[in-house]
Amino acid sequence: MKKIFLIALIVIGLSFYHSQAQNLDEIAEIADGSKILVLNYHQVANSSTYLAVPISDFDAQMKFLADSGCVTITPDELYAGLNGEIELPPKPVLITFDDGYIDNYTNAFPILKKYGLRATIFIIPSFTSVYPNYMTWEQLKELEANGITIESHTLTHPKLEELPDDEIRNELLNSKNLLEEQLGHPIEFLAYPTGTYNLHIAGIAQDLGYKGAFTIKYGVVDKGSNFFALERVPIFHSPTTMKDFYERIAWRQSFEEFGWKKR
Ligand SMILES: [Zn+2]
Repeated sequence: MKKIFLIALIVIGLSFYHSQAQNLDEIAEIADGSKILVLNYHQVANSSTYLAVPISDFDAQMKFLADSGCVTITPDELYAGLNGEIELPPKPVLITFDDGYIDNYTNAFPILKKYGLRATIFIIPSFTSVYPNYMTWEQLKELEANGITIESHTLTHPKLEELPDDEIRNELLNSKNLLEEQLGHPIEFLAYPTGTYNLHIAGIAQDLGYKGAFTIKYGVVDKGSNFFALERVPIFHSPTTMKDFYERIAWRQSFEEFGWKKR
């Protein structure tokens, strides 16, 4: 009985080592700087909702990125890198959060700081300093002074596809203006609420002065990406959060194996 237990332990140990090693290879493939991994989080909290990655898992994920030598970049750097204006660092990763939940400040920020990682948070300005579950303007300013970039997630988080044009424009423009007024710098990137978008919405965003927009389309950003349909890899809470994290980082390979093409 003891022997079987020991063998089982060795098998589990080896397969864990194997999956870690494989993921490190995947990260190494991103190392030429032409593939950019964009992670998408919502909440970092010990809650049962699928949007909330448990705090210890988030810590382990950030430690994995830091230990793997990933360098966190900003949306501006991603844009300049894809345009050939700058050379991206090896293993570029853009860590993003949607919605601006308070736990981004209380739970995620100290962990990012601990590992020296930067991140970008897409904010719904009509919720800011209004609802207790969302951050305040003071907190956003403190984050920005410490390596976190704030960008727009529209004014009120509607499904843009269901709105008439003038309301789409209001959502995109008023959120941009309000954030610029409060934070004192240009807001040029957008994350579509619920990830839904189409070419028409992308065109309006471009007209209003946005340089790029992020979706929840799975994949890794590269030179074939559309600036207004940038791919992200969503990380959710599940019974196997860490396994999913490693697998999702490795998904790029599977996309290409199945002949997946960028649009
Ligand atoms: Zn959202």
